[in-house]
Amino acid sequence: MGGNGRGVRVAVIPGDGVGPEVVAATVPVLEAALRAHDGCLQVTELDWGGERFLTEGAAMPADAADIVRGTDAVLFGAVGRPDVPDHELVWGLIIGLRQQLDLAVNVRPVRAFPGVPTKVRDTDGVDLVIVRENTEGEYVGAGGVAHAGTGNDLGIEVALHSRGVIERAAHHAFTLAGQRRGQLCLVTKSNAMRYGYPLWDRVVREVAEQYPDVTLETVLVDAMAARMIQNPKSLDVLLASNLFGDILSDLAAVLAGGMGMAPSANIRPDRSAPGVYEPVHGSAPDIAGTGAANPVACLLSGALLLEDLGHRAAAEDVRAAVADALADPANHTPDLGGSATTADLASAVLNRMEKRP
Ligand code: ATP
Repeated sequence: MGGNGRGVRVAVIPGDGVGPEVVAATVPVLEAALRAHDGCLQVTELDWGGERFLTEGAAMPADAADIVRGTDAVLFGAVGRPDVPDHELVWGLIIGLRQQLDLAVNVRPVRAFPGVPTKVRDTDGVDLVIVRENTEGEYVGAGGVAHAGTGNDLGIEVALHSRGVIERAAHHAFTLAGQRRGQLCLVTKSNAMRYGYPLWDRVVREVAEQYPDVTLETVLVDAMAARMIQNPKSLDVLLASNLFGDILSDLAAVLAGGMGMAPSANIRPDRSAPGVYEPVHGSAPDIAGTGAANPVACLLSGALLLEDLGHRAAAEDVRAAVADALADPANHTPDLGGSATTADLASAVLNRMEKRP
C-alpha cells in the first residue's frame, strides 16, 4: 500500500441515493487540500452499487477486492435503493468489501462543531471516537430459521466473539486513546450475557497491561447510552462490539448534529489493505435528489482518509474549513435547521480551502 508519496490513489464509489451528491461535494475539497501541501489526488471512479446490481446482477465485480488493493484508500458514498433488497447491496458491497479486505476495525469520530445546533443540550466540546469491531459479534451472519413456514418459525442468530479479533480491536483502541486524552471505555453487557462479553472484559483487561498510560473503564451498554446524553464530554475513546458500536454511533452522531455529521473509517489495523472511508449515514432515499444532503459526514470521512495516509496537515485543513463554514448558519443544510444546499455548503468549504495560505 502506498500513500507515503505525494500522490494519493483513491477509489471513489459514489453508490446510490445521496452517496453521489456527498461524494461530489468531497472530492474537490480533498483535491484542494492535497494541492495546498504539494500533493495530488488520483481518482478512480467505480460505478458499484444499486444501478450496477440492476444491470449486471451484482453490486460490484468478482475481483472488486483486487481492484481496490491497487489503490491507497476508498472513498465510499452510500448504497441502498428502494427497488433492490437491502442485503444485496449491503452484503454485496460494503460488508463484502470489509470482509474481503479484512477491515477489522471501524473508527467513528464524533465532534461537536461550534455553531451547529443539536437536539441534545450542552454538547460544546464533545470530541469522542467509537472504535467498533467490524467483523464478528451479532452481525456475523451465523444462524438460520428452523421450522420455517410452519407458523412456529424459529430464528437463530448466533453471536461470535473471538480472542484474536477482540485483541486486534483493543490494540487499535488503546493506541488511539494513547494519542488522545488517554481514556478508554470498553462497552459490554456482561451482567446479562454470560460468554461473549465477559470474554471481551477479560481480553481487554489483559491488553490494557501493555498500555499503562491509558485508563480503562468498563461500562455496560445501557449505562453508556445514558451517559452519552448526560455527560458526553467525559468520553474519549470507546471500544465496542459490532452491534453495540453500530447503535452507539448513531446515538453519538446526534451529539454532533445528526447523521449528516458522522464520518467513519473501516480499516485494517496493520494497514496491509486500503481502508474504506464512508459517512455513517445510508443512501437517504427520502432526500436524494433534493440537494438537501449534508456533505459534512463525507467531507470528514475524506479528512480521515488523508490523515490515515499520512497527510495530516491536509486533513487538518479540511476539518478547519468545515468548522469555519459551519460556524456560519447561512451554510447550514436543512438537517441542521438551515436552507443551504449540499452544493452551497460544499462551496463554502471549498472557498475556505482555496483561501488558506
Ligand atoms: P439506508 O437503508 O441506506 O441506511 P435509511 O434511510 O434507513 O437508508 P439513512 O440513509 O442513514 O438511513 O437515513 C436516516 C435518516 O437520516 C433519513 O431521514 C435521512 O434523510 C437522514 N440523513 C441521512 N443522511 C443524511 C445527510 N447526509 N444529510 C441530511 N440528512 C441525512
